[in-house]
Amino acid sequence: MNHDPNCIFCKIVEGKIPSRKVYEDDEIFAFHDINPWAPVHFLVIPKEHITSIAHLEDRHAALMGRIMLLIPKLAAQEGCNPYPEGGFRIVSNTGAEGGQEVQHLHIHVMGGARPWKRG
Ligand code: AMP
Ligand code: ZN
Repeated sequence: MNHDPNCIFCKIVEGKIPSRKVYEDDEIFAFHDINPWAPVHFLVIPKEHITSIAHLEDRHAALMGRIMLLIPKLAAQEGCNPYPEGGFRIVSNTGAEGGQEVQHLHIHVMGGARPWKRG
């Protein structure tokens, strides 16, 4: 599995940097964002160091499918209200013009009662 020793999210996966864990399995890790925009705001990442959505390869299709199926379950678990009155937002900033700050693929999941701090 690809790993970048200088990557902050790889360090979170390894437990070298503490995080508030939401979910973990052999391929996927999820944790609360340190600077939440919304009442619920967590990040879902592959444990493999994939730089961004723009770096996905065909071999990642099942992994990304699993992440997408997991998101609504974790959103409900973390307190997002049900669709359609509730719901959530998913965002994956990609590259400089996409506003990506951490170069390890991550999907923001945001939800909860409005107003939000941002967005
Ligand atoms: P971006 O790359 O622009 O999608 O943003 C990276 C996100 O990671 C931001 O929302 C940060 O608040 C979040 N973040 C950065 N460092 C940590 C950390 N140590 N624990 C949890 N979230 C973090
Ligand atoms: Zn990484």
